[in-house]
Amino acid sequence: MSELSYVSGERHSAWSTYLAQVERVLPLLGELSRWADTLRHPRRALIVDIPLEMDDGSVRHFEGYRVQHNLSRGPGKGGVRFHPDVTLEEVMALSAWMTIKCAALNLPFGGAKGGVRVDPAALSRKELERLTRRYTSEIGVFIGPQQDIPAPDVGTNAQIMAWMMDTWSMNVGAPSTGVVTGKPVHLGGSLGRVKATGRGVYVTGCRTAQALGIDVAQSRVAVQGFGNVGSVSAELFHQHGARVVAVQDQFSTLYHPDGIDIPALLNWQQQHGRISGFPGADNVADEVFWSLEYEILIPAALEGQITAERAAGLSCKLVLEGANGPTLPEADDVLQQRGIVVVPDVIANAGGVTVSYFEWVQDFSSFFWSEEEINNRLDTIMQSALDTVWNKSQALGVTLRTAAYALACERILLARKDRGLYP
Ligand code: NAD
Repeated sequence: MSELSYVSGERHSAWSTYLAQVERVLPLLGELSRWADTLRHPRRALIVDIPLEMDDGSVRHFEGYRVQHNLSRGPGKGGVRFHPDVTLEEVMALSAWMTIKCAALNLPFGGAKGGVRVDPAALSRKELERLTRRYTSEIGVFIGPQQDIPAPDVGTNAQIMAWMMDTWSMNVGAPSTGVVTGKPVHLGGSLGRVKATGRGVYVTGCRTAQALGIDVAQSRVAVQGFGNVGSVSAELFHQHGARVVAVQDQFSTLYHPDGIDIPALLNWQQQHGRISGFPGADNVADEVFWSLEYEILIPAALEGQITAERAAGLSCKLVLEGANGPTLPEADDVLQQRGIVVVPDVIANAGGVTVSYFEWVQDFSSFFWSEEEINNRLDTIMQSALDTVWNKSQALGVTLRTAAYALACERILLARKDRGLYP
């Protein structure tokens, strides 16, 4: 499927999923499709070796990546993932989804992503700091406030962004808060950033539910992944009267037909590091999660979770993609045939990058906004992006994903065309 020599071509890989999504939108792009090949070719990919002295004195090597998929509309933007299964191909797909997402939201960024093949939970705090600093130093030639701005993703957080900001600043010899977003608030971070992605899932979810005649306050919700995105989404739906009946993390699946007490579950997770053992719900087999009764499903863990088989068994009416790439292309077809509406990742989880954009703007101007201003601006941008994509999908008779890709690809390829090729 891919022409790139360094790609496996594996059918269900994240990169294959991305290519299949692009393929579906090409017939809608008219003359701009002449430039579509640019979407199939990451602009730059850097692989780095990270030697790390462990606390016991031994030395281990870890593989890291930073990929800039497309810079036609602005500097690269995208998170850094620390996870044992990270590969170059996965980071390529994640960077491409950032290109599409930033364009769909009309943010002035291209797409990028980074990753290190490591289990961060297996490192001490000092080891994690050394790993982060060496990784940042190795990709230092690539990143910068005007070039490519990393942020947190799975396995990374505000502390890791603080180390990245400090390392890059030390290397260039001047404080540079704008080199990463998702930093602690006292180091140039933005209020509202931590909850921004979950908030965006909630805001776009409510807007779509309203259009579909689903009463959120009467609905049942299931959430896969109880990290940054999943837990905040669950909390907001719970606060607004929905019953969160099922929650799944990496280790277990909880179910309660009357709804799980989400603040209590958050407390439990804080104390125990995971959701298993929570006394306010039953533990059920992981695969059962997909066949339970609920109206709204929020996949907020990793890619490729909604397969065609699982899609065929879902009883929900609405899927809100908190995670990046959770639905395989064949599953998309099954969901469409079954009338289940999907708010795609490139819209549903764009709250994080939108507030990252606010953070970057605030760092440049050294003028910081109130949380209320940030949330209001975020809600307005998310609702307007959803409305534009909704109207386009109705006008073209296509899914919300295809409509979002059409909108984004038009913007990216128009920028490509008008800039022209160098040299
Ligand atoms: P996180 O590390 O905070 O949480 C991940 C959660 O997923 C954890 O609860 C983990 O236990 C669970 N999980 C991992 N593997 C699982 C599996 N096989 N089955 C069930 N649960 C599993 O990560 P996050 O920041 O919440 O990111 C989650 C997803 O959202 C990722 O796809 C990420 O790319 C995407 N995303 C994150 C942000 C952000 O701002 N953090 C923004 C946009 C998109």
